[in-house]
Amino acid sequence: MKIFVGDITTLKCDAIVNAANQSLLGGGGVDGAIHRAAGPKLVEECRTLHGCQTGDAKITLGYNLPAKHVIHTVGPVYSGDNTDPIKLASCYTRSLEVAKENDLHSIAFSAISTGVYGYPIKAATIVAVKAVRSWLEANPDYEIDVIFCCFSQNAANVYQEVLNS
Ligand code: ADP
Repeated sequence: MKIFVGDITTLKCDAIVNAANQSLLGGGGVDGAIHRAAGPKLVEECRTLHGCQTGDAKITLGYNLPAKHVIHTVGPVYSGDNTDPIKLASCYTRSLEVAKENDLHSIAFSAISTGVYGYPIKAATIVAVKAVRSWLEANPDYEIDVIFCCFSQNAANVYQEVLNS
């Protein structure tokens, strides 16, 4: 697991993971940035997917992005109850499963739910790292590079701290 600080739309990997909403038809934050960089064909393909449940993940091509694919996952809107970490962990696990089903070997995650959806960064990072670590341990024969894409140095510092602990 590695940390990258910057814009996820610049990453050339097999898949980048979008923090989408249930409609999959675009939004603000990282979702808006991915749709702008991918071009209008992305939303066309997304329309054929008929949305996505919270905690699930669906794949499209990356179109004009350097990444080959986009995996769209829908994080929970932070509520403070004990279903939040379960739903957020599912976003990471389902995204990795979709990557494996499609024989993808490098994946970059945005910090799902930590923007408009309000999940506190430290708590979200603990869930993200634990979910990815557990999935990698459960799939020891599958090689995949996992990158946590942090939009700020502050977020990267939190990831570094959690990865080291
Ligand atoms: P959510 O609705 O799931 O909270 P947001 O897009 O609002 O999704 O925020 C998720 C995270 O993505 C935030 O930590 C935000 O700082 C980050 N982010 C926003 N734009 C980008 C980008 N271009 N590349 C990488 N991360 C980004």
